[in-house]
Amino acid sequence: MSRAAPLLAQVAVPAPLPEPLTYRVPEVLAGRVGPGVRVRVPLGRRQVVGVVMGMATRPPEGVRLREILEALDEVDRPALPADLLATVEYAARYYLAPPGEVVRAALPAAVAPGRGAPPRRKLLVPAGEVAADPQAALDRLARTPARRKLLAEALAGPPRTAAALARAAGVGAAAATALLRAGVLTAQMESVPVPPPPPVDFPVKPPPHLSEAQARAVDAFCGWLEPRRYQAGVLYGVTGSGKTEVYLRVAERCLALGRPVLFLVPEIALAPGLSRALAGRFGEGLAVLHSGLSDRQRHEAWQRCRQGRTRIVVGARSALFAPLVRPGLIVVDEEHDGGYKQEESPRYHARDLALVRGREAEAVVLLGSATPSLEAWVLCERGKAELHRLPERVGGASLAEVEIVDMRKEFARAGEDRPLSARLAEALEATLARGEQAMILLNRRGYTRVLHCRACGQGVGCPACSISLTWHQVGARLRCHYCGYNAPRPAACPTCASPHLADVGYGTQRAEEAVREVVPEARVDRLDRDVARSPRRLGELLGRFARGEIDVLVGTQMIAKGHDFHRVTLVGVLSADMTLEMPDFRAGERTFQLLTQVAGRSGRGERPGKVVVQAFRPAHPVLAAAARQDYDTFVKREWHARRTQHYPPDSALANLIVRDEDQALALERAGSLAARLREAGEGRVAVVGPGIAPLARLRGLWRVQILARARKRSRLATALARAVAPLRRGDGALPRWLMLDVDPQQLL
Ligand code: ADP
Ligand code: ZN
Ligand code: ZN
Repeated sequence: MSRAAPLLAQVAVPAPLPEPLTYRVPEVLAGRVGPGVRVRVPLGRRQVVGVVMGMATRPPEGVRLREILEALDEVDRPALPADLLATVEYAARYYLAPPGEVVRAALPAAVAPGRGAPPRRKLLVPAGEVAADPQAALDRLARTPARRKLLAEALAGPPRTAAALARAAGVGAAAATALLRAGVLTAQMESVPVPPPPPVDFPVKPPPHLSEAQARAVDAFCGWLEPRRYQAGVLYGVTGSGKTEVYLRVAERCLALGRPVLFLVPEIALAPGLSRALAGRFGEGLAVLHSGLSDRQRHEAWQRCRQGRTRIVVGARSALFAPLVRPGLIVVDEEHDGGYKQEESPRYHARDLALVRGREAEAVVLLGSATPSLEAWVLCERGKAELHRLPERVGGASLAEVEIVDMRKEFARAGEDRPLSARLAEALEATLARGEQAMILLNRRGYTRVLHCRACGQGVGCPACSISLTWHQVGARLRCHYCGYNAPRPAACPTCASPHLADVGYGTQRAEEAVREVVPEARVDRLDRDVARSPRRLGELLGRFARGEIDVLVGTQMIAKGHDFHRVTLVGVLSADMTLEMPDFRAGERTFQLLTQVAGRSGRGERPGKVVVQAFRPAHPVLAAAARQDYDTFVKREWHARRTQHYPPDSALANLIVRDEDQALALERAGSLAARLREAGEGRVAVVGPGIAPLARLRGLWRVQILARARKRSRLATALARAVAPLRRGDGALPRWLMLDVDPQQLL
């Protein structure tokens, strides 16, 4: 007779391994180890914390099994509840990400496997009065060249440690110490809790009477909650149609039925009104997860969720992994937003995983947008989700009137490339004269797009990337927007030494200046990533705009997101065709979304809104559809194009990038990988490449691209897994030179 089979557990450990590892459960821990429970296990010579993915009965052959040392959760209250564990498993498999890495993304730092409490670092920021008047500070306070460089760097970039700052400025650390001592820079502890964003004053209003369209949607969605099974819906509501109120009503019903609610937004700092509305409606039971939380606060929020004390969670993409037990409703607001995709490993898409988790939890999943993604739209076409529309703004306000200005004519008339057309300048003056507010959108930060040599025709590029440097007037540096490299403005062309460098194209800093030239008395401010370095700064700026302390806000797409400013009656869009020219099959979709969203910021109050779009190709069908705010025409045309070219969501797509300092080596590796992929696809996976990636060089590495496409997601996943298998190292990890992105959101 054989003895009873040993009890085994498969544990996802914090290492880049393709599979969980099998451990033996010692007798003392029998009954205390189960799926989703965190355990302490030996790994090599270390001890690490992992998560039990499942139980096993048959030991793997030829391996001496090691024992679990400790169980950190109770079996009936695991760190990852069943529906979440299944989602994590799916994500690891589908995105070919190590399970340990996905688990790490799902747990807050303080409890994540393999991480202790992170050390608190001291970050340096310019002191208040310095930030208020950078030029004066540079002139007066930073006496030596090294200090000037360092201060300029601190003014232009995010908060950093003294060492990182000195490195970026190319000076010694002594300069940082000196400026700190002089009070020019101040230090803040990295993990100091930042209060929740933002100080925008949104009065908590009593729930309004629903419009007819809202009531229909609420009835339908609430009806789905009762049977407790998975159902997906797409809420397509024009900007200002009151989608939030629909979510709130369905959430109330869900809570009344005793099940928690998960609410995802693309970026929490940009959704202040929503946080307020949720807090006003749900009070104590609400947890807001945002990037300003300290590790302690995050941990506490996580514990409250797990203990069932939190009934509704709102947060950005990682909130998808909140340990609510069987949420009954998952809302993905602004589902089309690129912020739902994580652009580092594990490269998951929170909207897609929301559908997976919804299925596992038997929940209702609502995807809401004024411009549903092609993915969401196709779900409805194929009967996998039900489409509901809110076709009108609440209160009968009409959508803003959109006017396209032909910048070719404007150029011919003015004889130069001016940021603001005569038409927009005139509209701006009229708007401010009426005491109303305006927003000016331009999707590029900095002052000058590129410094161009008039003698040899070269642009001044980044030494490490194949990209032009952007001139930043603020801080007076040339900057690479990809790797962070920066340098002073050269006196002559680095290629041919000619002194004739011309500023070509413009960014938000130049646009801000142009607005000041047109309306010199107006209060003008700018919002882009250079300004909004912390959630607090962002909240402050938005708050000032909401209170009417700013007349014109110039910014990147950050200003286009779901804000509800009632006194904005003019929106200007500069270089509207810039996003159209990106080498990406989603360029048209992105442009349409951006224009529709930004148009939705205008005329949300009593007075009608106006939008002025400046473009060099005013007749482009995407711009024309956006001007009419005609989603149906746009989506049909776009879907036709995707189908003919076999792009997502018609096909599943993966982007593989092979990186190396040596271009020939990268090409060679990519060549054999592409060959294996073709073979593994058995004729059902189309492989394009290898070829040099659109962004050919990044941080000193050459980038070679392979695109793989298949009609079925599962087929693509299988082929990918097979093709990369031989690349795995002894321990199963993939080599660092390979970047693998399933369902990529951008193809650079
Ligand atoms: P969306 O998200 O669809 O752009 P919001 O949810 O921001 O629109 O709603 C726009 C505004 O209309 C908000 O100020 C909201 O409070 C208000 N609102 C929503 N529903 C109603 C309603 N039924 N009656 C009156 N006001 C409403
Ligand atoms: Zn030159
Ligand atoms: Zn660079």
